[in-house]
Amino acid sequence: MGGQENPRVAIVGAGTMGSGIALAALYAGFEVQLQDVSPDVLREAEDYLCTYLERKDQLEAIEQARFTQHIRDLDSADLYIEAVPEDLGLKREVFDAMEAAAPDQALLATNTSTLSVTAIAAEVERPGRVVGMHFFNPAAVLPLVEIVRAAGSDPEAVQRAVQTAEAMGKTPVVVEDSPGFIVNRVARPYYGEALRLLGEGGPSAAKIDALVRSAGFPMGPFQLMDLIGIDVNLDAARSVYEQMFHEPRFRPHPIQQRKVNQGALGRKTGHGFYRYAHDGSRQGGLELEAPEPAGSGGLWFLDGRWDRDVGDWLRKSGFPLVEDPREARAAVVLAGREVELGELLEKVDRELPRERPIFCQTNDSTWSELAGRLEHPSRLIGFDALFFGHAAAACLVGSPDFPEQLRAEAEEVVRAAGRAPVWIQERPGMVLPRIVCTLANEAAFAYDEGLAEAKTIDRAMRLGVNYPHGPLAWGSKLGWDRVEAVLDHLQREYREPRYRASPAVRRWARGVGNAPRPGAATDR
Ligand code: NAD
Repeated sequence: MGGQENPRVAIVGAGTMGSGIALAALYAGFEVQLQDVSPDVLREAEDYLCTYLERKDQLEAIEQARFTQHIRDLDSADLYIEAVPEDLGLKREVFDAMEAAAPDQALLATNTSTLSVTAIAAEVERPGRVVGMHFFNPAAVLPLVEIVRAAGSDPEAVQRAVQTAEAMGKTPVVVEDSPGFIVNRVARPYYGEALRLLGEGGPSAAKIDALVRSAGFPMGPFQLMDLIGIDVNLDAARSVYEQMFHEPRFRPHPIQQRKVNQGALGRKTGHGFYRYAHDGSRQGGLELEAPEPAGSGGLWFLDGRWDRDVGDWLRKSGFPLVEDPREARAAVVLAGREVELGELLEKVDRELPRERPIFCQTNDSTWSELAGRLEHPSRLIGFDALFFGHAAAACLVGSPDFPEQLRAEAEEVVRAAGRAPVWIQERPGMVLPRIVCTLANEAAFAYDEGLAEAKTIDRAMRLGVNYPHGPLAWGSKLGWDRVEAVLDHLQREYREPRYRASPAVRRWARGVGNAPRPGAATDR
């Protein structure tokens, strides 16, 4: 920055984020000034910096840090980062004072999570030098920084913010100034759909989390909300919802408000969706392990739209796929709504001996919709075919009066296919298809709106919230026609515009336009 040996950064607000950004800057050899109205906060920030610098054997870097209570006492710096509470009026006041204190060539940045950077910069005299620099918590650890280009930001200011973030050892991504930027917007369905499933009396939080983790997410949505703080997560959800003028995709859920009212805020209060012991360990989670595949006995395999990987996986697990129902211990139906699925199931029900289970994909229809067509509906098992090849667990839906013997046989087949069986109540889109397809849909909306390039959106989601794949790469991997089919199914069942497929999803489902490719630049 500015050709200096040691770039100089002044941080206004020394709380969680201000002190975290200060630590990242000291690690990188910057000169740091921290300002806060509270002397207690400044003392705590100094203790925090010393503790972490010492752990890295860099305690001498604290000599590069200065602490002050007044903005006017800040020495000249190259970059000023505001990290005061999320309040537009307060941030504008701080920007006013920062602008008065800063030399003309200095860059002014806000660490806001959800407010409009353009609105924060509206009253400054030279808005061209204002950008967003959105660090993630803990700022000294997480690599992502969203560099937010406000309406009036000069390209040179954006470029300098990118270079400064890189000099701090961070991975910057440039994004337009839009509610929630990339991460806090695209991630909304991760929490929103999980909350809806829970609120509808569907699977428990522990089951939803376990299923989601089984597809490679490091933390389930409820675990993550507990970590972030349910109050903080609700504030972010509410802010995006309000700024998007009540777009139904972003509607927060009453469960969040209820938890906040109860003071059950997650880890920090020892109680949220889970309970936490004194040592911080989570109580009551569900751990799933994929069994060793050991297929035996034939499966009557009826191929179709939802068989991208299922047939291969079953074969690899050792199951012979047979065409004669009499040789099969179960039937597996992978056709979807594109054929007369009801008629196909009627035929399978007629020809497969009565005591044997029929597995049918329920990615684009519900169990009850299909069971109504069968003479022996209690042997029908709906399953998530979309994630069968991608998750260690298999999500299953069965009849409420499922004969015990049939249940045991069905579970044995699933285990022999190397998948942990997880039964849930019938809910449209089940768990993973519903969550991942709505994430991909939101990323596709953001892409069409020009928020950022496809690979930038994906990189931000991998680095900002540790998703195993970017949502757009994931959509391509699953197949956009199938993402569209899951969304259409959700919309058909709920009759809510919340689930409408974005124009980009429709184009990519038709094979038109540059759909982000799996395994290409967008993938890890
Ligand atoms: P915090 O409450 O921990 O810290 C804010 C600090 O600002 C407090 O220490 C307070 O004393 C100080 N302050 C208040 N008024 C001030 C003023 N006029 N001048 C100087 N200091 C003042 O809050 P935080 O979690 O660090 O959040 C700060 C900003 O970062 C918010 O905009 C928030 O949305 C954003 N953010 C937070 C997180 C997170 O996970 N906490 C992540 C990314 C971004």
